[in-house]
Amino acid sequence: MSTAICPGSFDPITVGHLSIIRRAASIFDNVVVCIMFNSTKISPMFTIEEKLDMACKAVADIPNVTVDTFSGLLVEYAKRYDKPVIVKGLRAASDFEYEFQMNLINKRLNPDIDTMFLPASEKYTFLSSSVVRELAHYGANLKGLVPDELIPFIEEKAKQWR
Ligand code: ADP
Repeated sequence: MSTAICPGSFDPITVGHLSIIRRAASIFDNVVVCIMFNSTKISPMFTIEEKLDMACKAVADIPNVTVDTFSGLLVEYAKRYDKPVIVKGLRAASDFEYEFQMNLINKRLNPDIDTMFLPASEKYTFLSSSVVRELAHYGANLKGLVPDELIPFIEEKAKQWR
């Protein structure tokens, strides 16, 4: 059984994330979307429970994908699986520099765990969770950026943040 781990902060999950998750799900037997909440990204917009709820709804139609949360080092989380592969999406050269460094750190911590990079779809190269948060803050239309069923919740949450 091959397992991919798609880690991230998913604050919130976007259709760009989903495109990578779906592609990973067509390559691996199982995909675990792991919502990390120890990162240096301070003051997230959504609570870990809200991120989990949104991610579960977003992947509900993909049978071999599950969602989990973890606070700690990714290599520690990865020990729960047999030879998992970390799958990351790359939007731009800046993503590459950061992700390549993370891959080297993870390799140093656990040489058995490999990372696979999938290039972002051209359609979603511009898309990040921070773009969604910014647009939501100003009341812009989120259609096509996050799954439709999440839009009312994200809009409501953004209103509370204004
Ligand atoms: P963000 O960078 O949007 O805050 P995360 O930290 O949750 O997102 O990112 C988790 C992973 O998803 C990273 O590997 C990131 O490169 C990837 N990713 C994020 N947005 C996209 C996108 N639009 N297309 C492809 N991959 C993406």
